[in-house]
Amino acid sequence: MREKVWLGACPSYEPDALLRQVDAAFQALGIYNEIKPGMQVVLKPNLIMGARPEAAICTHPAFTCAVGRCVQRAGGKVLIAESPGGPYTPGRMKAVFKSSGYTDMAEAWGFQLYTQCKSREVPLRQGQRLREAAIVEPFLEHDYLIDLAKLKTHGMVGYSGAVKNLFGAVPGLQKPEIHCRFPDREDFSHALVDICDFLQPDLALMDGVWAMEGDGPTGGDRREAGLLGASKSPYALDVCMAGLIGFPAGAVRMLELAAQRGLGPPSPEHIEILGMPMDRLRSGDFKKAKAASTDFVDRLPRLLRPAAKRLATPWPRISKTGCVGCGRCAESCPQKAIAIEGKRARIDYSRCIRCFCCHEMCPRHVVEVKRLGLFTL
Ligand code: SF4
Ligand code: SF4
Repeated sequence: MREKVWLGACPSYEPDALLRQVDAAFQALGIYNEIKPGMQVVLKPNLIMGARPEAAICTHPAFTCAVGRCVQRAGGKVLIAESPGGPYTPGRMKAVFKSSGYTDMAEAWGFQLYTQCKSREVPLRQGQRLREAAIVEPFLEHDYLIDLAKLKTHGMVGYSGAVKNLFGAVPGLQKPEIHCRFPDREDFSHALVDICDFLQPDLALMDGVWAMEGDGPTGGDRREAGLLGASKSPYALDVCMAGLIGFPAGAVRMLELAAQRGLGPPSPEHIEILGMPMDRLRSGDFKKAKAASTDFVDRLPRLLRPAAKRLATPWPRISKTGCVGCGRCAESCPQKAIAIEGKRARIDYSRCIRCFCCHEMCPRHVVEVKRLGLFTL
């Protein structure tokens, strides 16, 4: 049976227009028949860091609100949970909810925000790289799980959507540990699929009204794409959304791996599209992140690969101005490669595995992605 993906367009975060679209997605996918009165429904937005909605880094609170209201229409109780980068503590979680516009929204609509920050180690029995992981408790204890992704480009894995969003179920500083265990994009992509396969969200929705292109997931440019998507398969949703922004089938390794494991479809041709057809929604390719693919290295003779990979892989550099020495990059660095000296961050490149967690977590966006001119085409 082909997976179904609902696609829609919405030019703004105007609440009634969004609600109509999300309601249409729920109806098309039969979600109102699945969520029963009294069910605990956990929403997992992308709140990688505390950021204003206008920055297009986080799932917009108006989008999460529209989904929460549809859950309430079905009789479900809404709990919003997430683990951003950096230390996972109640104080920091409250601050992230507040600065991302979630606190007032949740209070206005009677949604609960999860700030207890508890997690448990669990086995990932189907995992091909990750065989166990710490997972934040609401993602283990719920009646229904909804993945609320943000449509973005991504420095390490190229594209960030519904599958990548679930990496946020791993608490705070345990995320850099996974980066550290799997510094290679191939292994890390496998680990992302392992987590998604373990969590198996009941529904995934994509906020692409304001998306991000370029140096995502936090340092790129806002792109007013006006795109929305929904599916019971996070893999199928990603295949469609990635296709809409210029990643053809096979261009996103984690989706290719998921297809090889039989978890998701290999291309949009294997998906039943509901709502608007893809041809009417395509709005031109997104700018890719500078820390983009080094796939061509795999086609070189084996002996040349290590040196070529080293040369082709971008590296992080603290820009000459703008660093305030806040230490966010250092606390999220899995290799402890960053020291704060004289109110400025300094990278020890002998330890750096080029995971770009520092680039993602810098609130001032002063960790640049550098690469040799030869590889910037
Ligand atoms: S590079 Fe960014 S995150 Fe790191 S200390 Fe400087 S301002 Fe803070
Ligand atoms: S310095 Fe940055 S890119 Fe290098 S290991 Fe640390 S977080 Fe990753």
